[in-house]
Amino acid sequence: MDADFERLIELQELDIEIRKVLSLLNAIPAQVESIDRKIETAAQTLGRARDRLAQNQKKRRDLEGEVKDVKAQISKYKLQLNQVKTNREYQSLLKEIDEHQQNIDRLEEEIIGELLNADQIEADIHAAVERDREDQSRFDQEKAALAREKEYWEGQVRELEARRKQILPQIPAEQTALYERISLRMGGQALSPVTDDFCTLCHMRIRPQMLSELIEKNEILLCENCGRILYWVKKKDEAEKDASGRL
Ligand SMILES: [Zn+2]
Repeated sequence: MDADFERLIELQELDIEIRKVLSLLNAIPAQVESIDRKIETAAQTLGRARDRLAQNQKKRRDLEGEVKDVKAQISKYKLQLNQVKTNREYQSLLKEIDEHQQNIDRLEEEIIGELLNADQIEADIHAAVERDREDQSRFDQEKAALAREKEYWEGQVRELEARRKQILPQIPAEQTALYERISLRMGGQALSPVTDDFCTLCHMRIRPQMLSELIEKNEILLCENCGRILYWVKKKDEAEKDASGRL
């Protein structure tokens, strides 16, 4: 069969390009996800700091409530001081009052500690909010850039596939079938240029008989080593440029 090498080569170039663009497209959702994860992590950090502040405020309210209760108890004892009959009772009340007062001192120290904690937590929240604002605008930009990139590559795929559809009917069906079969087996490279007397992709030397058939006749010959469709290229450097561009 007469081989339409020009079309087959273009088909391979298109397929390689389509695969490349599809792999770029496939990588985009993961990139978007990784940005979303960073946004989520930042939100969680901020959320945790806010929770800590709420807990701190509740703790302070509880401690202040306790102080109030103890103070009320002390007031009661002080009233009782006027009514006691014996010195022993009087001393015992004073001792109670003293113990309660110590309790208040301890609670107030604890409140001061919590106030200092609150300052630190508020500073953390402020820093997180600040950081969030900067990050958010950067993340937005990154996501917008990815969306543009996606749109661009989708356009490229549509164009490449349209061109593929255009040239397919121009290639004899059995050659397309052979091409597809070898392409599947050889990682998408069904064609290999022959330069000097080597198969460029597997570096196998082509027998002189086969080589002259390849040069003289326009027919499909497969590399005896790698099984790819061979095509003749006149200049070595041109062939290498060709092949490396498609790898
Ligand atoms: Zn080969």
